[in-house]
Amino acid sequence: MNEPSPLEKEIRRLIAVSGPMPIARYMALCLAHPQYGYYVTRDPFGAGGDFTTAPEVSQIFGELLGLWALSVWRMMDEPATINLIELGPGRGTMMRDALRAAKVLPKFRQALSVHLVEISPTLEQLQRNSLSDSDLPLFWHRNLLDVPEGPSIILANEYLDALPVHQVVKQSDGWHERVIGLNANGNFALGLAPDALPQFDRFMPKKIKEAPVGAIFEWRNDIHAFDIARRVREKGAALFIDYGHGESDVGETLQSVNEHAFADPLSAPGAADITAHVDFFIFGQAAESMGAAVQGPVTQARFLRELGIDARADALRRGASAEQAANITAAVTRLTEGGRTGMGELFKVMALRDPILDPLPGFSPA
Ligand code: SAH
Repeated sequence: MNEPSPLEKEIRRLIAVSGPMPIARYMALCLAHPQYGYYVTRDPFGAGGDFTTAPEVSQIFGELLGLWALSVWRMMDEPATINLIELGPGRGTMMRDALRAAKVLPKFRQALSVHLVEISPTLEQLQRNSLSDSDLPLFWHRNLLDVPEGPSIILANEYLDALPVHQVVKQSDGWHERVIGLNANGNFALGLAPDALPQFDRFMPKKIKEAPVGAIFEWRNDIHAFDIARRVREKGAALFIDYGHGESDVGETLQSVNEHAFADPLSAPGAADITAHVDFFIFGQAAESMGAAVQGPVTQARFLRELGIDARADALRRGASAEQAANITAAVTRLTEGGRTGMGELFKVMALRDPILDPLPGFSPA
């Protein structure tokens, strides 16, 4: 047997000291431990990394989001300064492409104050490199709450899925938190907290309330939606793109991805990406309860089509070699196609906005 990694030793120590830990705590340690967390120790993106995200598939993705932000700024009556905030910016590719697209309107660019919210110092460095030739004011923060107040447009791709998720399992006496402990051989093992969570499903949709014994339900702390909605309801808008569902449902989506293949989330903590699908219904409900207006979710394919992905691809192909043109076509297909290999249907888009604003672009009825 291999020597356990420092993070595995640390998690064992925490379990020995305070007992089995909720999945959400395990996930937070695996991804964001200040020394050994997955995002803290590496660059996970792209062909050489563990997974590829939409901004890494094509520059068009970030460009369209930059133009979306521009039209939202106009709808806000063109404030003289606007915080353009990205949550979990990865390599900084999407922001770089968005800022390039924003050049079409100098007045908009002059208003921009760019804020990147990132927990990983390693990824912050990559973002600084990606954005090094920008002449705009750029700021980095560990938490959205540290971004100065004022009119804000927030963008987040594959951010919510990386936030810690809890799992609860239905038993005859209610829902029990799923925890990770150590079995007789000293290996990580899943178990259930002995007591049911009081009144857990009281405000949950019927489908969850009526779930059979043994069903698993995943949920995230509402605090993220609250923090975002509080900013948005005062001259703000936010856009979230992620894989997930528009209706709450039972089932387990926690997954671990290592070198583009699925892995066991309990093995090699900190060495693989761990994510879970986003429950957009619950997220939207929490944001609404804090005073934000909610649009979507719609599929990524529909959103990108409404933003003009096909016209933008045509324009790029016009000046391209045959090989480049084929690559552009393949990238657009990947971003908009349904099925298991495409991102178009699996990924959903949701917007939050200040209720005094008109509905934001990208969500027109099909
Ligand atoms: N948006 C990028 C990266 C997605 S991966 C892309 O589409 O390519 C998730 C990103 O969120 C990483 O940059 C990760 O370090 C960051 N992240 C994860 N948890 C976070 C948190 N609690 N606060 C801020 N950033 C976080």
